[in-house]
Amino acid sequence: MTTGSPIQFPALIDPFGRAITYIRVSVTDRCDFRCVYCMSEDMSFLPKRDLLSLEELDRLCSAFVERGTRKIRVTGGEPLVRRDIMKLFRSLSRHLQSGALEELSVTTNGSQLARYAGELKDCGVKRVNVSLDTLDDAKFRAVTRWGDLSKVMAGIDAAQKAGLEIKINAVALKGVNDGEFPRLIEWAHGRGMDLTFIEVMPLGEIEAERADQYMPLNEVRARLMERYTLEDIAYQTGGPARYVRVKETGGRLGFITPLTHNFCEGCNRVRVTCTGTLYMCLGQEDAADLRAPLRASESNGPLFAAMEAAIARKPKGHDFVIERAAKEPAVGRHMSVTGG
Ligand code: SAM
Ligand code: SF4
Repeated sequence: MTTGSPIQFPALIDPFGRAITYIRVSVTDRCDFRCVYCMSEDMSFLPKRDLLSLEELDRLCSAFVERGTRKIRVTGGEPLVRRDIMKLFRSLSRHLQSGALEELSVTTNGSQLARYAGELKDCGVKRVNVSLDTLDDAKFRAVTRWGDLSKVMAGIDAAQKAGLEIKINAVALKGVNDGEFPRLIEWAHGRGMDLTFIEVMPLGEIEAERADQYMPLNEVRARLMERYTLEDIAYQTGGPARYVRVKETGGRLGFITPLTHNFCEGCNRVRVTCTGTLYMCLGQEDAADLRAPLRASESNGPLFAAMEAAIARKPKGHDFVIERAAKEPAVGRHMSVTGG
């Protein structure tokens, strides 16, 4: 088991000179929701025996920390439905205490937040991303298929009460929440939360036609500018969002635009799945197996070698397009596998 001691090994730098300082770790591919843009209703999930244990996930994350990772985002599937997940947060928090890690955060659908908000805060988590596409009960049920908006709201209340900063992520969905953007902005900013809109990405087979869901965010932005003053600001969270300040509310609004504006040039991230597969890019198929080298030796030598070889192949970027004629998604795996 590695410790949070100062970095002794060289940082991971990709062929384009980008230092890898941020990992997103998907701790499960399972979820208690079935969002229409993320999953098909009838998903098949990984057998539990294929999953890394929480101890193995900790070792893997810690190996990245030793190689220069400064931010870890725990995601999924729904990370808070993984059994005993707080053990992972608790053990990773030692890297915050040692100063090796700058930020430990989580992306969640909020359904279990009421239960875990206090513990997350105790583990040094400061910011939580909550995915919420609509404030309308019936629409929420339609988008998530299985979700209950009141539970998510209770989760947000509990998280704020515990002192966690919240950012709301909303996927812009044509014909679903496109009439609701001002309401979402005023609600989020009224509660002191940042809000980020995301373009739907062509990841994994779903029942719906992506082109029917897709709303380019330059269009959303233009519509919002008829109503609000959007001031460009330099604020950065280390993720792909570009932020503006909405003058009328005083709050921050982010745009994640993988389709209308590719954000790959500054990419500092990689993604690790719950089976220890490393994806160097969300939008490409290439991956590296880290589970075998992790299990092959108690020393991190083989794991480091596999990480280095993988980062040496990190592609320059993705090239998503959403076309009606497209027979298949750009990438076969669902977002819930790679982790959002
Ligand atoms: N279950 C958690 C949640 O919903 O926040 C974490 C995992 S989820 C895969 C992470 C983020 O990915 C969510 O904000 C979700 O809205 C987004 N997402 C899922 N599928 C997407 C897609 N095809 N295009 C764009 N965003 C997607
Ligand atoms: Fe679950 Fe998150 Fe995907 Fe919705 S977006 S189905 S909450 S993993």
